[in-house]
Amino acid sequence: MDININSTTLSLIKGDITQQDTEAIVNAANSRLAGGGGVDGAIHRAGGPSIMEECIRIGGCPTGSAVITTGGNLKARYVIHAVGPIYKGGKGRERELLESAYRKSLEIAIEKGIKSISFPSISTGAYGYPTKEASEIALGTVIDFIKGNKGLDIVRFVLFSEGDLKVYEGSLNKIKKV
Ligand code: ADP
Repeated sequence: MDININSTTLSLIKGDITQQDTEAIVNAANSRLAGGGGVDGAIHRAGGPSIMEECIRIGGCPTGSAVITTGGNLKARYVIHAVGPIYKGGKGRERELLESAYRKSLEIAIEKGIKSISFPSISTGAYGYPTKEASEIALGTVIDFIKGNKGLDIVRFVLFSEGDLKVYEGSLNKIKKV
């Protein structure tokens, strides 16, 4: 599913983020940038050890923020490591921190002159954020950002399962109607 907002195409696809040919891909990292399972493990496996070497040099990243490394052996030139919140029932600052993880990633992309970027569904795996709620936050934040910032040609969400893709499509349809 694709929609155009100003000069940016926002698309939702099912796929593997490590295979994307956008200039940057976003990692759902942890605050120690220590690598892990899920999308993080997949990116380090596919990109090779140079990405972890850069992460070690950077040292860490607070929750709700993001840092950038090169993409090693990936097709993508850069990896933006975004740290989403661990979901703890939704009564804390989870929403704000998830919004901030997406916004910081986009700000870094603009600063670097990156024109195309792929996101995974941050925090909805091991970090337990309910996918529907997280999808509304993710899409709402990205759409707000695109409306206020020129420079990105493509923002792609790469969902790992058909079920997740359907949830994101439902949320985008709902947002479009507002
Ligand atoms: P978090 O710790 O932020 O929850 P996870 O990596 O555990 O991050 O999960 C985030 C989302 O990424 C989940 O929906 C998971 O299914 C998905 N995912 C896992 N591997 C990949 C991949 N190679 N490409 C895209 N998405 C992936």
